[in-house]
Amino acid sequence: MSLRRRVLVGFLAVAAVLVITNLALSSPLRSFLVDRVDRQLIDVASRPVFGGDRGRAPGPPPGESQTFTEYFIAVGDRNAANFSRRSSAFSDEEQPPPRLEQAQVLAHATRRGVPPRPFTALAERGRESWRLVAVSSPRADQITVVGTSLDEVDATLGRIRLVQLAGTTAVLLALGVVSWWMLHLGVHPLEDMARTADAIAGGDLSRRVDHPGQKTETGRLGKALNSMLERIEDAFRAREESEERVRRFAADASHELRTPLTSIQGYTELWRAGGLASEETLAEAMRRMEQEARRMAALVEDLLLLARLDQHRPLERSTVRLDELAADGVRDARAVEPDRPIDASLEPVVLDGDEMYLRQAVANLLTNARVHTPAGTPVRVSVGVNEGHARLEVADGGPGMDPATVAKVFERFFRADPSRARAAGGTGLGLAIVAAIAEAHGGRAVADSQLGRGSTFVVELPLSLGSVQAALLRRELP
Ligand code: ADP
Repeated sequence: MSLRRRVLVGFLAVAAVLVITNLALSSPLRSFLVDRVDRQLIDVASRPVFGGDRGRAPGPPPGESQTFTEYFIAVGDRNAANFSRRSSAFSDEEQPPPRLEQAQVLAHATRRGVPPRPFTALAERGRESWRLVAVSSPRADQITVVGTSLDEVDATLGRIRLVQLAGTTAVLLALGVVSWWMLHLGVHPLEDMARTADAIAGGDLSRRVDHPGQKTETGRLGKALNSMLERIEDAFRAREESEERVRRFAADASHELRTPLTSIQGYTELWRAGGLASEETLAEAMRRMEQEARRMAALVEDLLLLARLDQHRPLERSTVRLDELAADGVRDARAVEPDRPIDASLEPVVLDGDEMYLRQAVANLLTNARVHTPAGTPVRVSVGVNEGHARLEVADGGPGMDPATVAKVFERFFRADPSRARAAGGTGLGLAIVAAIAEAHGGRAVADSQLGRGSTFVVELPLSLGSVQAALLRRELP
């Protein structure tokens, strides 16, 4: 059963209980009031003045006229007929008297000294009713009927019923308002939430729940739902972005592999068509094919390395001296290009890292400095500790890069000048690998460059505990 229906059923149940209670109360109330009238009547009728002998004038005794004016008093003969003699204090014109039925009067008449038995009779005219007692004289030749109108009782009951009706209506109205308020505050927001949830289930992840603030339960629920939806949407967006990245990466990798493959295929077709007849052309074709194959191998090598880093497998960590790795890299670079001035400023830094990956990062940065700057451009390599991090820096005095290029250098397959970079043998993955290696160690890679002012690439890595201690010791010992 829905909450709305439950509230409605509750409301109807309370209304029914109220009406039934009112009805059930009304009958005992009338009995109670009539009972009081009866007691008064019995009290009056048991006074010695009533039920006296024949010949006594009916009516109030001298001096008591005021007390008895409200009572109807009539005296009849033994057969309860001829009630012509009535209380002089009673006026027929003002109030219609009760209709005295002989059988009824005789049935209820009691002798003096015996408790009277009150009975009800209708008025001679109109709808008024009377409460009467009949007392017979000691010799039973005369019957005195004393009565009082139930007018007051009926009026009181009428007033009480009016009050009950007004009270019940007020209670039901208040209950109605409270029910409406409860539904408005509790059920409407829930219905809204259900509608929003349906819309979200239909694929509209941007929908949010309207909620009336933090003060109500539904408000808190709405807020919690919204923050949950926010997270779900973020997770979906991140997944979509990651899928898009993977798609783009696969497409770029296929494209990069196709270029050397097409080249090799072209040479083989040329050879089959007899285009490489002479010794020199064949040797040149073989050299080019070998070059392309090497490029492909380097690309596949880089792709495999990135794929491994993407899997976030645990690193093969060991205690590594970053300064020694950098010194090896500088030595290799000097061997490849002896004419380039490479300045090295290497502080001893101990790291807990993957040596093979870190060697790869140093090599990639030095290769870039060699490949993307004119021959002879000075390069400076430094290793040190900065703000609690190990810092490897490779700076060159080359042509530098514009800000748009700097923002993209760590993207996969990004090249500022694709044809030149390709001709230089680059795969476009060198810096992406450096960044992935830094991240795998819990660090980061940043580039700082300006056109005409050279480029600086920095790799920041968390220090091992031993290195922190060494740095502290260095600071203490002059
Ligand atoms: P690759 O070197 O194989 O092209 P990288 O990812 O190593 O790929 O570098 C991406 C691009 O960043 C390069 O193509 C080049 O345009 C630019 N770049 C990298 N290092 C330097 C540098 N030291 N000086 C100027 N440009 C650089």
